[in-house]
Amino acid sequence: MATPISLPPLPWAENALDPVISANTISFHYGKHHKTYVENLNKLIAGTEYADLPLEKIVSATAGKSDKSAIFNNAAQTWNHTFYWNSLRPNGGGEPPAALKQKIEAAFGSVDACKKELSATSVSQFGSGWGWLVADGSTLKIVKTANAETPFTQGLKPLLTLDVWEHAYYLDYQNKRAAHLDAVLDKLINWEFAAQNLG
Ligand code: MN
Repeated sequence: MATPISLPPLPWAENALDPVISANTISFHYGKHHKTYVENLNKLIAGTEYADLPLEKIVSATAGKSDKSAIFNNAAQTWNHTFYWNSLRPNGGGEPPAALKQKIEAAFGSVDACKKELSATSVSQFGSGWGWLVADGSTLKIVKTANAETPFTQGLKPLLTLDVWEHAYYLDYQNKRAAHLDAVLDKLINWEFAAQNLG
């Protein structure tokens, strides 16, 4: 029997990101939204050719296939959310580790300019989606994706992500997506995780 895809534990306590992201938001976002993507995915892949694949392979194998969109959406949302939790940490923000900082300065001019572009690009995602810092070969870029789309299916290496679905901020910030993102970038963003992903 195939091993189901699991919901990984959060890397911090539910209230650890408060007050920027409240325990209430995390409780719904992780405990309902993320959990439901995992449950739906396991139902959808049961008994199919995808049942034995690791999560990344399921995402890659279904990307761009209109007849597999339900599996893709739930698989990619499962992956994106785990990546998102790790992109955040209590007492985040501040200065990136030296090797990452150098790459950021080469691509954007400064850490501040990188944060501004990441925020602006994420704010500009119409409807639901994600903002990302990615490596494209040896250079860094900011990209946005719609709905469940994820950059690793496009040959880009994700370094960190921001969830701009309304469920990520509506309980705490209502319609103020930009205010939420700026607070996250200043206080919660996990540059160490991004540096690890740089490899
Ligand atoms: Mn989300």
